[in-house]
Formats: sequence, C-alpha cells, structure tokens
Amino acid sequence: MDYLPAFHNVKGKLCLVVGGGEVGTRKAGVLLEAGALVRVVAPEIEKELAERRGVTPIVARFEPGHFEGAMLVVAATNDREVNKTISALAQAQNLPVNVVDDPELCSFIMPAFLDRSPLMIAFSSGGGSPVLTRMMRGKLETIIPQNYARLGAFAVRFRELVKQRVTNPPKRRIFWENALDGLVAEKVLAGDEVAGEKLLKQMLDEEDNVLHGEVYLVGAGPGDPDLLTFRALRLMQKADVVVYDNLVSKPIVDMTRRDAQRIFVGKERANHTMRQEDINVLLVRLAKEGKRVVRLKGGDPFMFGRGGEEIETLTAEGIPFQVVPGITAALGVAAYAGIPLTHRDYAQSCMFVTGHLKDGTMDLDWDALVRPNQTVVVYMGLHGLVTLCTQLIAHGMPETTPIAIVQQGTTPNQRVITGTLSTLPGIAEREKPQAPTLIIVGGVVTLHEKLTWFHPQNP
Ligand code: SAH
Repeated sequence: MDYLPAFHNVKGKLCLVVGGGEVGTRKAGVLLEAGALVRVVAPEIEKELAERRGVTPIVARFEPGHFEGAMLVVAATNDREVNKTISALAQAQNLPVNVVDDPELCSFIMPAFLDRSPLMIAFSSGGGSPVLTRMMRGKLETIIPQNYARLGAFAVRFRELVKQRVTNPPKRRIFWENALDGLVAEKVLAGDEVAGEKLLKQMLDEEDNVLHGEVYLVGAGPGDPDLLTFRALRLMQKADVVVYDNLVSKPIVDMTRRDAQRIFVGKERANHTMRQEDINVLLVRLAKEGKRVVRLKGGDPFMFGRGGEEIETLTAEGIPFQVVPGITAALGVAAYAGIPLTHRDYAQSCMFVTGHLKDGTMDLDWDALVRPNQTVVVYMGLHGLVTLCTQLIAHGMPETTPIAIVQQGTTPNQRVITGTLSTLPGIAEREKPQAPTLIIVGGVVTLHEKLTWFHPQNP
C-alpha cells in the first residue's frame, strides 16, 4: 500500500489554497463542497472564485503568515519553485499539503472520487496514472447510480433504530446486508422511501436476534480471479469465515471480505495440513457458531474436489448450504492454452479422470481411455506420468499420441509442455513443471501451437 486512504472532516475549518487560477478554483471548489472555509491567496483571483460563499480572498503573493489557522494546504500556483517552498514550509509545520499534479511535493494526494454522500468512493493511482483513475471512476459511475446517495441517507436515518432492535452486532451486520441488498434497497433506489421504511420495519418485527450459520461451497476456478462467477464473488464478500486450500490463488483469497477470518486447510500432495474429515467437522462447527462460512475450492467443488463429502456432513447436521459451481481446471486450461478439448477434427468425446496414485498404481479403466477420437484430461497426474504413458501405450494407444502438461493454468505462471506419450516423461523430468498441473492427451494438443499465439490471455 503506497498511501493511507483517509477522509478529512473539514466542515467549518479553514483550508488554504495558494493560486487563484483555474486549478485553484477547482480545488477550492472541492474543499467548499466538503464544507470548508477557504482562504485563497494569489496575486490575481478570478472574480467568480473570490465571491463564492466561504471564500476569503487575499490578493497578494504567498507568504508563510498565510498558513495561520489553516488545517491543510493546497498549492496550485503555476510556479514550481513557489509550490516547492509552500510544500517545504507546510511539511516543516506538519501541515498536510497537496501540490497539484506534483506527487513528489505532496504529503497527501487528492483522490478522484465518486460522491454519493453519505457514501463516498475515493480512489487514486498515487499520481501514477490519472487516466487509469479516471477510467475506474467512469466504470464505477455506471455501476453505482446516483440513487445510492439516497440509500446511504436512508441507512443513516435508521441506524439507531436498527441498533436498538438488533442487539447482536454480527446479526446486525447481516440484517443491514439483507436490507441494503434486497427489497428495501430496491424500493429506496427506486425513490420510494416510504415503502422502504415499511419493509425495513417489517424485517425488524420478524427479527429473532439469533445467528444462523451457513456454508457456501464455492468453486473458485483454476486461478485467474476473472473466472469467478458473480455469485461466488457475492458470497465471498458476505462470509465471516473463509476456509481455503492451496489450489485457491492468493488474488482470489484477497477478494474475500477484509475483516473475514481466514483459515488455511492446506492439502498439498502427501502434505495434508488438515485431514478431509477434520475439514468437514470444522465447517460444521463454524456454522453452528452462527458464522457464514465460505469454503473456497479450486476449480469446481464437485470435480475431484471432495465437495460431495463436505456437504454430506452438512446435510447430516442440518446446516444450510449453497454450492456454487466453478470453472474446472480442464476448462480453464483448455481455453487459456488454446486446446479445444473436443475439436471435431480430433475428438468426439472427452474424459476427465484422476491420476492419483493409490499404492503406487493408477486405478483406471485403460481400455476406455485408449479409444480413438477421444481427449483424456488427467487431474493430479504428474506423479504418475510415467505409469500413465506406459499404460496407455501398453493398452494400444500409439506412442506418437500428443500429450501436454499444463502448469498453473490461467495464472501468470501458466506453462505448456508438450510431447508424445514416449517423449513427455523425459521432457518433464528436465522441465520440472510446478504444481498444480493438468495433463491432456489426444490430437487436440497439437492445436496449442497454432491457437495460443493469438490468445489474448496467453502469458
Ligand atoms: N476441483 C478442482 C480439481 C481438484 S483436484 C477443479 O475442478 O479444477 C486438483 C488437481 O486439479 C490438480 O492436481 C491439477 O491436476 C488440477 N488443477 C487445478 N488447478 C489447476 C491449474 N490452475 N492448472 C493446472 N491444473 C490444475
């Protein structure tokens, strides 16, 4: 984090703006909007600015005495030397100072913002890319309509009442989430505060002040956060506790609620931080404490993910849950590595199997795997790669059949290693792909060279 975001309360307080041109006028305008009293110092001050309510114009060159009584300073002159002096003097007095368009001289920067007061959304690129900040602002403008200001005011109005009626703090947060994300919000956003109030009071009457925990079993996709579903994201931001393992990429874990408790339950091959049975019990315990738990799983929860076992325990214990499907590794990898799994020239079917070794062997229906015109995707197969290739050849698959290992698909570390059934084990030995890896067998693999070149996500 390069800067500490914070909001200043400047209501009725004196702020100093040095510079009376266009930029000074703009900055003074923002300060006035926030309720500040503004002393404007410049040899020439635009009339329109000098006459604004709240402005005290001083037509003069800047001198240190102008700091007197000010709580913050904005330097907006067109002379860098003057700006520099102001910045140095202000900082010597620990006065927050902003020099317009000159981050080096600033002790604070003024962010771009979207004003939906009481809701205020401020953002900055630390002065690094004003264009990017403006673009973000534009995007937010479209998804956070003007009426959110109304919703904010509505929430402020009923804050005390709700606090008195819903005494349990976590429960109160859930209450507000339901209100501000449901029918109440819809009414208020549509401009009907009366209906919103009626609904809110109805919700209060039905409120039992008891926490009801639940579990969301969420497929987090293969790695790229852009591949999350909307529902996954919504539940991730709702949950009080996040239970995740190492298949879930860090940027995705970072998208969960900031104040949520995060529990890492590991699971690397042969290095299980927590046994599956213990994870099942953990989910039940957290939910019984009234928590909303998001169980993040790599890819899709039901695809070789033991998600089924987790919900069996939840069902047995009568705990409400939701399952959110995710993009499974095979589909993410196929797209990002340019390997269309059922390209009609090569395959009419596709099989997903696990290559997990049990007692050193792979328990697979080899005759079914070696059928022609078929793509085989092997999850958890790297350690059994030699067995896999040997067995496929032994059961009749040509040794020239193309095969690929895709490392950390859809992430910036994606790497595709290709070969044939006879050459790939040797190549993998040298290249040492990093987990997680997915293996794809079949003619479609040859398309990788041709199709990834044009692929925008190809790292
Ligand atoms: N539920 C997950 C799979 C869990 S099994 C899903 O639907 O994707 C774990 C295996 O998934 C790993 O051993 C690896 O084979 C595969 N895998 C998961 N994410 C991957 C990724 N980003 N790139 C390559 N393989 C991945």
